[in-house]
Amino acid sequence: MSQPIPTGPGQHQVTGRKYTFAPRMAKTPKSFIREILKVTEDPRIISFAGGLPSPALIDVDNIAAAAASVLAKDGQVALQYSTTEGYRPLRQFIADRYKKRLGLEVSPDEILITNGSQQCLDLIGKVFIGTGDHVAMERPGYLGAIQAFSLFEPIFHPVILHEDGPDPVQLAHTIRNYPVRFFYGIPNSQNPSGITYSAERRMEIAGILEKSETLFIEDDAYGELNFNGKSLPSLRQYIPDQTIITGSFSKILAPGMRMGWVVAPLPIMEQLVVAKQASDLHSNYLSQRIAFEYLQTQNIDTHIEKIRASYCHQRDVMLSCMAEFFPDTVLFTRPQGGMFIWVTLPESVSSMAVFDAAIKENVAVLPGSPFYIDGGGNNTLRINFSNSTEEKIRTGIERLASVIKKQCNQ
Ligand code: PMP
Repeated sequence: MSQPIPTGPGQHQVTGRKYTFAPRMAKTPKSFIREILKVTEDPRIISFAGGLPSPALIDVDNIAAAAASVLAKDGQVALQYSTTEGYRPLRQFIADRYKKRLGLEVSPDEILITNGSQQCLDLIGKVFIGTGDHVAMERPGYLGAIQAFSLFEPIFHPVILHEDGPDPVQLAHTIRNYPVRFFYGIPNSQNPSGITYSAERRMEIAGILEKSETLFIEDDAYGELNFNGKSLPSLRQYIPDQTIITGSFSKILAPGMRMGWVVAPLPIMEQLVVAKQASDLHSNYLSQRIAFEYLQTQNIDTHIEKIRASYCHQRDVMLSCMAEFFPDTVLFTRPQGGMFIWVTLPESVSSMAVFDAAIKENVAVLPGSPFYIDGGGNNTLRINFSNSTEEKIRTGIERLASVIKKQCNQ
């Protein structure tokens, strides 16, 4: 075995050894976001690049109290191995919340607790995608899903995302011409675009899928973060046997706890549980117990209301700065919720060039091209508003605007 030879802090000398990796690795993109986040660690940088929830809205004191209480009351059990499916009272809580929030009938048996909702995407890939199988997803699409599914070597089919949701004609055409295993989408405040599917488009998409074997993977990471507080229906309401929902505590509690879940019809759940066992036996049980204790002792609705009010304000500040400082030729979405605004620059302007120039001004943005499975999007940017104060938003957008103006005039 050869060891890398350290040559300085954080550096390793590359040895002459060649390693042979599975072919799937060559087809899987490195997370561009993670690479960019390394650049943005410098505290002088105002970063709109990542997708972090606001640190001010992580309820550390009450999570600490919940953790202390679980450990004091039931420490040995909470630190022991546990069931693959997850802590049943927590699954019951999630099921009850679907009923209350969306009127959906979900049984706790249809819920599997995962290590973040990102793990759901890996498990879904394992269970459904063989090499060369067909998968459809939104264009632009969530980078973490592109990465998770790529490991299973599918053939991707993009479906253009309009302001009111995915293009129904393109979706219908794709599933008519290919045996598409699933269509993956984010109906609420999509990452990266911030787009929310309209009520009509949801019904239309369900109607198209209903006539096929294609499943809908409904990634609902942002469903609780709709600023008007009004939830639109899940596709499970229309096509329950064909819909898998993924959910997350990351945006409403704390991402570091790595708590997510998947809701699936029982025959699919059986397969997901096998994949989960092979992957990690079960999710972090201590985190599950702490999350449940927190949910029992705190009012999560009040907490979510605080998050919504804060993000809504941050969005408004960012939109008004964009309207004030950006040239008219720059377009941007007006998200109803979530954490991102999607910016489209004039065709001739490269978002990579904007990224490079903005970093020199201590502002980080995320170029949009990695969100396109079939190339393109070279003039798009994803801008995060949840992780910056009002003051930073103003300063950062003003600086970004002057960078964009310079690029427009080149
Ligand atoms: N889906 C979407 C759309 C996301 O934006 C994210 C986080 N960026 C995830 C899933 C994964 O989140 P987590 O694993 O923290 O639940």
